[in-house]
Amino acid sequence: MAEFVLQVGSRTAQGVRPSNQDRYVVDLVQNLFLVADGMGGQERGEQASGLAADIIPRVVQDCLAARADANVAVQRALAEANDAIVHAGQDQPEGRRMGTTAVLALQRADRCYVAGLGDSRAYLIRGDEVKQLTVDHSVAWALVTTGALTPEEARHSPYQHVLHKFLGCAGMPEGAEIYPFTPEVGDRLLLASDGLTNFVTEDDLRQGPKLFPNPQDWADHLVELALRRNSRDNVTCVVVAFERP
Ligand code: CA
Repeated sequence: MAEFVLQVGSRTAQGVRPSNQDRYVVDLVQNLFLVADGMGGQERGEQASGLAADIIPRVVQDCLAARADANVAVQRALAEANDAIVHAGQDQPEGRRMGTTAVLALQRADRCYVAGLGDSRAYLIRGDEVKQLTVDHSVAWALVTTGALTPEEARHSPYQHVLHKFLGCAGMPEGAEIYPFTPEVGDRLLLASDGLTNFVTEDDLRQGPKLFPNPQDWADHLVELALRRNSRDNVTCVVVAFERP
């Protein structure tokens, strides 16, 4: 069974926004990593992503301690965070929504379990291959899958930021899709909010690990790059490097 030493870098920046509604978690006891991007106005967005960052690691820990499968632990953690955020947002006026995206990765022995709700993304960079592991739950991306929009049109669509699935959705019956993969030595896993992913290219992601082998250096570089390219959003990432023991 392959075991790894995980090296992790992380960075968040408020940018030009009046507050930072992004949260991240680096939990090296459970090998759990999370990025959450809150929405619903300044206070509510911070509250939603904060609830996700508090609840998800705690529920994963409880489930794993009770010997649940990683899949089950991740599903239950997302469901509990969803319920708590729906509950906290119940006093919101009609039409206002309080919620957060969540993209997470849980590493257990030789498998890594990735899940995402909303439009924060997970990418796997392996050699020259860059693969987006998660699906964007934006209306624009749903229109791409039906053929109504091209991926390029989706990037500029007003529906790009309208999410149909996120934590805080009252009706989320089918839960989150989980994307497991088997890591290899040298892999880089990137979790990031849209304030970062909208401002870096696939080529940036391909070259990054070669130019910045240290994951903290790469996380710093990616956030600075997005800000330099005029990201007007909060910008957050976690970089996990799978290294030989
Ligand atoms: Ca954002």
